[in-house]
Amino acid sequence: MALPQYTDVLIVGAGPTGLACALSLIKQGCSDITIVDSLPQGQNSSRALVIHAATLEALDKIECARPLVQAGINATTIGYWDAGSFVQTGSFDKLASYTSFPMILLISQSVTERVLEEQLKHAGVTVIRPCTTTDMKANEHDSHISGVYFENGQIVHARCVIGADGARSTVRRIAGVGFSDPDGETSEDDVANSKFSQMVLADVTFTAPLDLPYNGIIFVISPDNSFLIAPLPPSPDAPSEQLYRIGFGIPPTLGTPPHSPSVSYIQSLVDAWGPGRMHTAATSSSSLSPHKVTIAKMLWATRFRIHSAVADTFFTHLPLTSRAGDDARVDGADTEARGGIILLVGDAAHIHPPAGGQGMNLGLRDAVALGPVLAAYVKRVKASTSHGQVNTATDDSDLERSLRDWAATRRGRALAVIRMVKILLRAVTLPDKTSWILGIIPVNLHTLRNLIMRIITRLGWVRMMIAWRLSGLGFID
Ligand SMILES: Cc1cc2nc3c(=O)[nH]c(=O)nc-3n(C[C@H](O)[C@H](O)[C@H](O)COP(=O)(O)OP(=O)(O)OC[C@H]3O[C@@H](n4cnc5c(N)ncnc54)[C@H](O)[C@@H]3O)c2cc1C
Repeated sequence: MALPQYTDVLIVGAGPTGLACALSLIKQGCSDITIVDSLPQGQNSSRALVIHAATLEALDKIECARPLVQAGINATTIGYWDAGSFVQTGSFDKLASYTSFPMILLISQSVTERVLEEQLKHAGVTVIRPCTTTDMKANEHDSHISGVYFENGQIVHARCVIGADGARSTVRRIAGVGFSDPDGETSEDDVANSKFSQMVLADVTFTAPLDLPYNGIIFVISPDNSFLIAPLPPSPDAPSEQLYRIGFGIPPTLGTPPHSPSVSYIQSLVDAWGPGRMHTAATSSSSLSPHKVTIAKMLWATRFRIHSAVADTFFTHLPLTSRAGDDARVDGADTEARGGIILLVGDAAHIHPPAGGQGMNLGLRDAVALGPVLAAYVKRVKASTSHGQVNTATDDSDLERSLRDWAATRRGRALAVIRMVKILLRAVTLPDKTSWILGIIPVNLHTLRNLIMRIITRLGWVRMMIAWRLSGLGFID
């Protein structure tokens, strides 16, 4: 499919957030949109495991929640294994008074993307692939429009550009927007002292299905690591077998995990920290070696480094002189002659560790929330334009206020989620060593945490509050 010469909104990236953005704009009657992706087809990569209730509420507005709920596993519980029994920490069914989706939906990201792209096709929009954005500059004749350059030499003139192009966003780089950890970068000492700074994930089947205590997410927190397991819906590659997502922290002593972990590498982690540990300690003496659990098939595996970053702003104007690779940047706010509007969503705007399954969720909610605001902007700016020329800077700033508000609100949410995820991660990775209070009282933080969690999670409202925080329902959208 050919690129148009002009479009009101160009969405760069057809991952979950780009697709959701397109659907949200269409829902608001904004039809002149173009969505491109550098990949010849969808990523088909499992990655995000969970869709939370607030995200399903948002996706319901673009008619995607029901097909996703049908395709996934509607789980209601998260918890962890401790000293031979399971402790439930979050009860999502208790959210039924607040949402039509009282669940954590377990679904692979590849299925989520497939459902969103199918809905987009139904709406009459096809992702243009493979099509890589390389550069942008302000249009010489209309400084409110950006010329967006593609690898194949084509140029698209766009009134607004949405950077939905992932953590290494080209759009963000061209716009000259910074991207860093709000608390400063982690030092090498911190990394060396942390329980783990890398994680490995895999989707696997086992030679025999596991006898898990409930349909949800289970963490096995051992003194030296954390292991996660959750059931996934059947995959076309293993249609009749029970599929599981498993995840491990990689302690610094194991070195950097391989980029594409092999079955034998994952099996070695399963042997050391995997489900066999639960079986052994739950059913027999912990002095026995763990029950052997063997991987039958591995459908997908990856490793990644745990870190956080947020864009300095989610909204900017393309600086007039900005071209990819230029050192000199002009701050869009200081120059009158600027290019079109640039907005950042999803991983292009924020990334953080996977604890609590928040990454894709936040991105999807950014995207759905942007639709009405941007559609209204496009409508107003077109109405206030005579012969392609927008009026004065004052008009601009008035027109753009809602976009700036959207950007500030979403950035605030991203910072709040980064804070929450960091606290969660710290709680999960507490060291198993004794500290001394006032030099006389020995405290093992790992044991103390387990004891406190065991006591407070007996209370139903505590389990509901944990589910509430993770679900995202505490925010309005
Ligand atoms: C290994 C791994 C595990 C993860 N696990 C979880 C998890 O368990 N839970 C969770 O919530 N999140 C998880 N995440 C995060 C989650 O995958 C992301 O939050 C989500 O993919 C963000 O979606 P996005 O659409 O913003 O970006 P992406 O999914 O990265 O999509 C960006 C798209 O832009 C395209 N693109 C990039 N550059 C260009 C260009 N110049 N021109 C055109 N197209 C371009 C890419 O091809 C891609 O399709 C994980 C991420 C990784 C990497």
